[in-house]
Amino acid sequence: MRKCNNCLLPETYETIEIDSNDNSCNMCKTSKFKEENVDWGKRKNMLDKVIEKYRGKYDYDCIVPFSGGKDSTFTLLYLIEEYNIKPLVVRFNHGFMRSNHERNVEKVLELEGAGEIYINNISNDGLMRGYNLGLTKYVLDHSKLPIISCGGAGNFKHVSDAFIKTEI
Ligand SMILES: [Zn+2]
Repeated sequence: MRKCNNCLLPETYETIEIDSNDNSCNMCKTSKFKEENVDWGKRKNMLDKVIEKYRGKYDYDCIVPFSGGKDSTFTLLYLIEEYNIKPLVVRFNHGFMRSNHERNVEKVLELEGAGEIYINNISNDGLMRGYNLGLTKYVLDHSKLPIISCGGAGNFKHVSDAFIKTEI
């Protein structure tokens, strides 16, 4: 099995491509490119200006798309801890989220003092066949935060089921 001669990731690692010319992977090449070609001090100044321009103007200072993966987790934590701003955290559940991402999301949102968790199961949204009660119950059991659940209610029984079966 081929491995990157720099980071040692194997060719079977997801999304990796190893260049046969120098046996380095695409992630190492991207990292090297960024180190050599991006003026990070200048980028930081640009970010500072954008944040100060919008800080406190609206209910939220920015929107952070958040999957629970390492990149969006870093972005969210960096913005909160470095800038002390109030982001609106938005997640789109496409139905293929990894279980470790779900746990990571709950931990990060609790740690950083999120106001609530908004659940919208897109598989049920608009179909009026009821909420995804299993998902709602799972989040309730694993989080201390208030939950807003939507997506799928078609009648009052769906609403009462949400309260009774998940013990909200
Ligand atoms: Zn590599």
